Amino acid sequence: MGGLRGGIDLGGTKIQAVVVDEAGSVLSSVRRPTPKDRGPEGVAEAMADVLRDAAHDAGAETSGLVGVGVGSPGAVDEASGVVARATNVLPEWVGPYALAEELSRRLGAPTTIGNDVQVATDAEFQLGAGRHYRSLLGVFWGTGVGGGLVLDGRGWVGRGAAGEIGHMVYRRRGAHCPCGRRGCMEAYAGRGAMEAHARAMADRGVSTKLFKIMEQRGRTRLASAVWATALAERDRLATRLVDRAVKAIATTVASAVNLLDVEAVVIGGGMGVRLGAPYVERIEQAMQPHLFVSDRPPAVHLAALGDTGGAIGAALLVGASPAGAQVA
Ligand SMILES: [Zn+2]
Repeated sequence: MGGLRGGIDLGGTKIQAVVVDEAGSVLSSVRRPTPKDRGPEGVAEAMADVLRDAAHDAGAETSGLVGVGVGSPGAVDEASGVVARATNVLPEWVGPYALAEELSRRLGAPTTIGNDVQVATDAEFQLGAGRHYRSLLGVFWGTGVGGGLVLDGRGWVGRGAAGEIGHMVYRRRGAHCPCGRRGCMEAYAGRGAMEAHARAMADRGVSTKLFKIMEQRGRTRLASAVWATALAERDRLATRLVDRAVKAIATTVASAVNLLDVEAVVIGGGMGVRLGAPYVERIEQAMQPHLFVSDRPPAVHLAALGDTGGAIGAALLVGASPAGAQVA
């Protein structure tokens, strides 16, 4: 079988791997938890294992793949394949680590690394909800809120750090953001910040089913599914915090649209995908009063590739220079 590519999406809670064919269709998909206690080496080992299983399911060996792409958090040097400061999702990953070189060696296939959010945006642009447009803002609503841009048909990474929509300022001197600053949109809309807020409210005696649902599901964090269940059960605190998140996302996304005038906004990420179309519609409606050109709003779509979009986008890095350089 020729032309098969591997893609790995590295997240703080899970590693998602896919094998795709020449057209980008998914042949196999494997997901496992991200090891928390073995540092970058342990993560690289787990990534190689997950992709090996995906290749096996597709009837291939990793050494037979044309190449492997990785969407990684942290500071990604695409030319060298080195990743540093992935600490927002992987606390032990502080210093630089030659991830592409390590994976190439373990897998026997050339490996390319890109920014996780940008590759997910590129996947929606090439194959998903953004495929009919030339310009696009991808918003990935999960533990944090990431953003990716395609402008005039090309990904825009700025000097390497563009798209940080979660850290656009929503309220001056506002809530504390996980990034250490105050008032960022993510401080209101990131699932991590929402959980911290919910815990503080529960500690103060505000009644909520959120943590009971979490325990019933055997979870230790307020996963997206926990929020979705609490909303379905009309939990008042969950409803209030999600409403607040919707407002914060809508306001900052509308501001970004006023600056960039993109044709479309695609909403993905764990929360975006789990809460789905009704909440994407609510974000779209809440954007409206803030749009400068209000009679020509951008299209707002739910991510079409769901939560495998990141891994599919990573696979699209293979052979897609100059988006990323390959380390053989
Ligand atoms: Zn921030």
